[in-house]
This record gives sequence, C-alpha cells and structure tokens, in this order.
Amino acid sequence: MNYLSTRGLAPQLRFSEILLGGLASDGGLYVPEVYPRFTAAQLEAMRGMNYRELAFAVLSRLIDDIPHDDLAALIDKTYTAEVYRHAGPGENAEDITPLKTLEPGLHVLALSNGPTLAFKDMAMQLLGNLFEYVLDKTHGELNILGATSGDTGSAAEYAMRGKRGVRVFMLSPEHGMTRFQQAQMYALTDANIHNLVIRGVFDQCQDIVKAVSNDLEFKARHHIGAVNSINWARVAAQSVYYFKAYFAATQSNDQQVSFSVPSGNFGNVCAGHIARQMGLPIKKLIVATNENDVLDEFFKTGIYRPRPETKHTSSPSMDISKASNFERFVFDLTGRDAAKVRGLWSAVESGGSFDLNANGLFDRVAGFGVVSGSSNHANRMDTIRTVYEVYGTMIDPHTADGLKVGLEHREPGVPLICMETAQPAKFEDAIREALGIEPVRPAELADLEAQPQKKHVMDADVDAVKQFIVDHAG
Ligand SMILES: *Cc1c(COP(=O)(O)O)cnc(C)c1O
Repeated sequence: MNYLSTRGLAPQLRFSEILLGGLASDGGLYVPEVYPRFTAAQLEAMRGMNYRELAFAVLSRLIDDIPHDDLAALIDKTYTAEVYRHAGPGENAEDITPLKTLEPGLHVLALSNGPTLAFKDMAMQLLGNLFEYVLDKTHGELNILGATSGDTGSAAEYAMRGKRGVRVFMLSPEHGMTRFQQAQMYALTDANIHNLVIRGVFDQCQDIVKAVSNDLEFKARHHIGAVNSINWARVAAQSVYYFKAYFAATQSNDQQVSFSVPSGNFGNVCAGHIARQMGLPIKKLIVATNENDVLDEFFKTGIYRPRPETKHTSSPSMDISKASNFERFVFDLTGRDAAKVRGLWSAVESGGSFDLNANGLFDRVAGFGVVSGSSNHANRMDTIRTVYEVYGTMIDPHTADGLKVGLEHREPGVPLICMETAQPAKFEDAIREALGIEPVRPAELADLEAQPQKKHVMDADVDAVKQFIVDHAG
C-alpha cells in the first residue's frame, strides 16, 4: 500500500515513511492510494470482535510495512482496560469505547476514558507505541514540537512519556486553558517531557512552532517532528471506533447508522469518512461546529471561507478556523484530482476562499452523506442541562454541541451515535454554569492541581524556544 499526497507532487511513500512526518513535501496531506474495502463476509466476521481485534482488522489493511505480529502486539499493548480505565458508572472499561444508550436509537460513544479524558488519547496512545517501535528499528530520535490550547498537548505528552527516542517540547499559553488542563500537562515530570509555558496567547505559540519548523536546517539537525492532527496514523487509528460503535448499536449489517461529530480540525469526522469508504454502512456523518462555523457554512453552501480570527468559545477545543484535515475529504470529493486541490488551496493559503458550486462539485457532497450544523453558548448550556435532566448523564460542552446538531438531523429508524469527545471533568466552569454543580473527577485525578509541576515559563520568543530545544534535545 502506497500513500499519495492530496496535491500530487510529492513522492509516494509507505506507512512507516509518513508516520513521523507532517505535511507532504508539496504541502498536501497523505492518503492511501486506494481505500481498502471490506466485503460483506468480512464485515460479518468483524461483528463480535473486541476492540483490539477490530483495530487489527482495520489497521492491518492500512499498514502493510510493519510485520503483522508486531502490529498486533502494538495494538494489544495500546487498547487495554488499564489505559482506558476512566470509564464512568455502568460502562465496561474492557469495551475501550463503551456505547451509552440514552434512549432506543440514541447513543453516546464514550471516547474519552483514556489518560487525559479526551478522545485524542484514542489515536495518540497508539502513535506513542508506533513511534517507539519505528525509532527502535532505525535507532532514530525524534523531538516533537507542538503548540496546544488544551487537549492535544496533554494527549501527546501522556502518549510519549517515557518512550525511548522521543522527547516532547509542548508550548502552551499562560492563560486560556482550564485549570484541569493546565494541571494535567504540568504534572508530568518525566525527563522526556518539556512544558514550555509562553507568556502570550495560543496563536503566538503556534506562530513560534511554525517559525521553528520553517527553519529547515534547524529542523533537520534536531530531528524536529510533530504530532498534529494531519498525521495520517491518527486519522487511521480513529476510524476503528466507528466500526466498534456500529457493531454495538446494530443487530445486523443490513442496518445503517448516523454519527454526529463535534468538529474542529475535521480529524475525527475524516476518520468516519474513511470508515465509510472502507465499507462501513454509515448513513450520515453529521459535522457539528461551535460558533467557529467555517465547516458548517461549507456543508450548507459549498463555500469554504476560513476566517482570519478565531472566536473564543465555551467549547474551546473546537475553536479552529482552518480545518486542516478537510483537504483529505475535498480530495475525494474532486474524484482525487490533485491539480484541482492545488488550485483550491492556493486560494485558501493566500487568505481567500473557494466555492464548489461553480464547478458542480458541491452537488457531490450529498453522495458522501455529510451534513452539518452549528451550536452556540446558549445551545450548549441548554443541551448539557436537558441531557442531565432527561437522561441523568453529564456531558461536556463539546459533546453537547455534537448532540445538539445531531438531533437536528436525526431520522426515524436510523440509530444516531454522538461522539463524546471529552469528559465533563475537563471543563468544570462550563458544567458549573450549566448545572450549578461540579463534575465528578476520576478518583486518581482528585488532587491533580496539588501535584508537583514541571514547567518552564518564557516569553513568546522564537530564539528562546530554539535555545531551550538545543539545551534539552541531547
Ligand atoms: C480535538 C477536539 C475536538 C475536535 O476534533 P477534530 O478532530 O479536530 O475535529 C472536539 N472536542 C474535543 C474535546 C477535542 O479535544
């Protein structure tokens, strides 16, 4: 299996060759040359598999340059009840992603039972084990540089802590993350984890990461890599739980289900698109945005118009104006026309927009089953309250956005599965505002804020960050 770039000008590579990289050399994103497709008999055999077996069934079709025994061992070590142990009352941690039924035909898929209580653990934990495996083989080293506004940084750090050959340099803004999110990251005292707290805002952190990455000589000399959401392995790993949820919510493969997905960078919903391309009977993929509604506008009008400014909202992990994985979907929408994708993104990258009505491409969206909606603060608070009152379940603000939009697209006879992207404990202020009570935390995280912290506070200065890397990269 080769992987090719959505912009068509980068060399085709194998899975292990794109694992540690970011964008393709032509600025595009890597996708499989063809999506492997499960036959009806194969799908039938997958019904009843546990999470690890399903992960192997799906990922072994996408990863063919790691011996299957090794891949199976990496998967078995990643998806355990021990790692995904923060299951709530009534959930079985062995399910890894337990399906919670609110009422017949309406479900929430618990994706945030991993170490950092957000769905990003689902893929990042596998990435940590894959990185260690590949670096061991090549005697390589990797210094991961990233910027986070909350969930990505902690998921990356918990996945990479103690991994041979890997160091993490994670920039986070001094203000803007929840207290829980800050404590979660800074409480990691592992030698290979470095928290750089920047006196500034998230955008400044991101600009520093870009500036360092654009220094190609520095990047090569210090083996700088990334774990951002365009990483193909992350998207691939996420496609597994769509299968798990489908089999849990249906009795036979003749049925279809719809998924509602709280979206920012389009990584989660892109994984659903891939599961669908691989043959999973998905009726609709429902893209839910918050007030940053660039994707909602696209799926309603065919116009993709990233905004210069991102709004700060009470579902902060979706505060994104350029959905980096969206290019993978548009590549498929164009019938995999790389020249067309290059044209569209050259407009976006020079600050513009594109409109897929003129060339008839927008009409094709219906065939891909993707619909959308958006949510705002009042909707979010209402949804958290209603779900708590009616079903006795507490959901976080992002999951609330997903549920709100999902219900707008619910169809009789088609089970609706809403992706739970974080646990409410991560967003205490929002829960207190909605319900007037504190969310329950997993017991082992009760005194998180009191734990010793390891962080390095510094100005928003590219050279200072580079110097820190030089001093700590070994
Ligand atoms: C990252 C994140 C999202 C958005 O997921 P994408 O893959 O970027 O679309 C939604 N909710 C939470 C809690 C997240 O951490």
